[in-house]
Amino acid sequence: MEISKRVNDMQFSPIRRFNTFAFEAEANGKTVYRLNIGQPDIETPLCFKEAINNFDKKVIAYAESGGVTDLLDAMIDYMANMYDMHYERKNVLVTNGGSEALINTFIAILNPGDEVLMAEPFYTNYNTFCNEVSGTIVPLTTSAEDGFAWAKRDLIEAAITDKTKAICSISPGNPTGRVLTMDEMKLIAEIAIEHDLWIISDEVYREFVYDGAEAHSFGQLKEVEDRVILIDSVSKRFSACGARIGAIISKNQEFMDAILKLAQGRLCCPTLEQVGAAALYRVDKSYYEEVKAEYQARRDAAFDELSKIPGIVCQKPAGAFYMTAKLPVDSIEDFLMFMLKEFDDKGETAMFAPAAGFYATKGLGGNEMRIAYVLTPDKMRRACELIKLGVAAYKNK
Ligand SMILES: *Cc1c(COP(=O)(O)O)cnc(C)c1O
Repeated sequence: MEISKRVNDMQFSPIRRFNTFAFEAEANGKTVYRLNIGQPDIETPLCFKEAINNFDKKVIAYAESGGVTDLLDAMIDYMANMYDMHYERKNVLVTNGGSEALINTFIAILNPGDEVLMAEPFYTNYNTFCNEVSGTIVPLTTSAEDGFAWAKRDLIEAAITDKTKAICSISPGNPTGRVLTMDEMKLIAEIAIEHDLWIISDEVYREFVYDGAEAHSFGQLKEVEDRVILIDSVSKRFSACGARIGAIISKNQEFMDAILKLAQGRLCCPTLEQVGAAALYRVDKSYYEEVKAEYQARRDAAFDELSKIPGIVCQKPAGAFYMTAKLPVDSIEDFLMFMLKEFDDKGETAMFAPAAGFYATKGLGGNEMRIAYVLTPDKMRRACELIKLGVAAYKNK
């Protein structure tokens, strides 16, 4: 018996790989500030549980494959009220998180060998999603020095071949925190039209833009409404990762019909979680402001402290809750092992994700780390101070 080549070629999550060593450090009495995983600690709005408590049907029946109508309507209202984007029920389909939205999008638009363009470093699970359908991610390489900018005509066009089917955008970005400006989005739209490509826009961090900037969506660009596929999720926006509710949103009816076939095959998304999610999409606008202010304070604390490291390369990220920074070390993995096994300051250390796993191009990111600012500002400052102290101790080793 054999495992398929498709799956043999996949990797285990590079983000979780170092957890064993963190557990060991903790078993030895060290406190480990974990900045390696994007699991927010913000409380899920209470309305989620209240809505589920108020569910009064006697049977937890299958929901509609495309999603509970009340949730579809809540999503539609949210997009209209917050972004002036106008959708109908047939344009929206509920998925098991943004993850299933991406997998099914790739199944629907890629044949084996087809290519999608994506700025690297990118959220590693895209490798799995794309490999599952034997598609290929063609990376658009960006750099810390340049703030991970990627919306450049020559960079994108040089990567387009006759197998290219889509441009994938994650904005606000994971792992870089890069946010596309409206002008950059328009440029990408222009290129997609000229080369007849889909635009897959992963907007699971849509609201997380800082310094007073306005959040944008590819759904606001009329000229590409037939080729834009929005990927949405409650996970990050409402701090509800375990609810597993997301959505695919598109005005291309042929695409939505294809997606519905796939959705019917897996019957439905969890009925109760959809009831809770409908309440989340109706939270007051003030929720977004509060959460944003909290993340911005965390980012500022982290960035301020990291900036004190001599030789670090990192621009202040404009959104999401990640930062990718180049450290003055040869091997970030070796440095991380040092942080977990040898280093401590008053019994404390910090852990981050090595960035190499976020690059498709071998050899890139070897001295870069990604941190998720998912702890309170005080803890973020302390954790980044530990990285700063760790770098100094590592260099004096
Ligand atoms: C977390 C994340 C997702 C998917 O998360 P779900 O929990 O499946 O909704 C998708 N894209 C990016 C960039 C993410 O960070």
